[in-house]
Amino acid sequence: MSGSAVFYRNPGDEYPTIIRGQGCYLWDDLGRKYLDLSSGISATAGIGQGRADIAEAMTAQVTQLAFIHNARVTNDPQETLASRLADLSPGGTGKVMFTSGGSEANELSLRIARQYHLARGEPDRTKIVSLTPSYHGATVGALSMTGRLDINRDYAPYLLPVIRVPAPITYRGQWTGLSADEVSRRFADAVGDAIEAEGAHKIAAFIGEPISPSAGLAIPPEGYWPRIREICDHYGILMIVDEIITGAGRTGRFLGIEHFGVVPDLTNLAKGLGGGYVPLGATLISDHVADTISTAKRQMAEAHTFSGAPLSCAVGLAVLNVIEREGLVEAASEKGHVLQSLLRDHLLDLPAVGAIRGIGLMQAVEYVKSKETKEIYPADAGVAQSLWSGMWERGFLLGTMRVGNTLVGDCTFFYPPLIIDEAELERGVSALREVIQERSMGWD
Ligand code: PLP
Repeated sequence: MSGSAVFYRNPGDEYPTIIRGQGCYLWDDLGRKYLDLSSGISATAGIGQGRADIAEAMTAQVTQLAFIHNARVTNDPQETLASRLADLSPGGTGKVMFTSGGSEANELSLRIARQYHLARGEPDRTKIVSLTPSYHGATVGALSMTGRLDINRDYAPYLLPVIRVPAPITYRGQWTGLSADEVSRRFADAVGDAIEAEGAHKIAAFIGEPISPSAGLAIPPEGYWPRIREICDHYGILMIVDEIITGAGRTGRFLGIEHFGVVPDLTNLAKGLGGGYVPLGATLISDHVADTISTAKRQMAEAHTFSGAPLSCAVGLAVLNVIEREGLVEAASEKGHVLQSLLRDHLLDLPAVGAIRGIGLMQAVEYVKSKETKEIYPADAGVAQSLWSGMWERGFLLGTMRVGNTLVGDCTFFYPPLIIDEAELERGVSALREVIQERSMGWD
């Protein structure tokens, strides 16, 4: 045990200390400098660190009004941010409710779905359909919806009943090699079949990430999301889209689901919305859902203390201003193409690199024991951990993950700040090549 009073995520581990951040760079307490390819490890610090414009907005709001609860009054930053987000949302999504983060936003959408069905006189609609693998957060409702046994298995006695259906992964699995149309039909039919088996009258909502890190950033086949939309409409089920990681421009559109041309009923944002400067999440609510709840005079009584707090919303607004002023959504699209080409050109020839995929500035590299069979490395090979430490030793922060699912192998994830430049991306990719070559010898 270290001398620290912090109870760490892995209590036995030693944790280096990061003391400063500026733009895409971080410094530790030993004076070492790192290029951050992960936006603060969790795809959050999307506009870069240490920004004077955000500090100014923050200071101005602190001196104007730091806090007021939204139970009885509203405040200007909340109103302005809500209307800006509504403007950025697809048509018919005119209302917004704020939270302090992603898990809370996903939980809020559960409560909104409940109020919606109560308002419509359908109290038996309580269950949620979610994808496996997926990640929706750490609080009990969000953890229940999370389709990752490696994360939620220990908490099973506390979890809500959730109907689990396979995420649309085509790299491995029974439907590999089918046409996009066929495979999207089969994955969507699996959702329809699960709904039929349970009884649609018991189901409140479907939740999914447009593109999920837990699925190794598998790109859903064209047609999948439109079919899911049709199924939800057909059965009177709300469609919730978790944009905690994909939202706020990371994919090259403001919302990731825009790539697939569908409009969800509820859309959840966090991470990049606060840019790492404040804890901030939001649920975008389509008009028909908001109207149904308000016409029936139902309420969303239980909100969090920091829901819509002026300071968080003012900083969220300043982050949005940066995203718009600096054209970061378009930049994510352009740089995403550059990054994907770099990854393909420099890594695909390596025997351990099975696939490269992603959209915008979220790109994954998946590692395989054999390119032919796509066999996943065993857990004890420690692939993800060895890639993390190899990159760290060379002065880079790069996201890595082992999902522990038979359909997804160890992955590294590039989620750089949207302000990163091409030369920095090139340095990151060439460092990763060196690390793979060096470390993969020890994986067998
Ligand atoms: N949903 C997704 C897709 C996420 O990536 C995360 C966080 O990693 C969450 C939800 C949970 O968000 P938070 O950690 O802000 O509660």
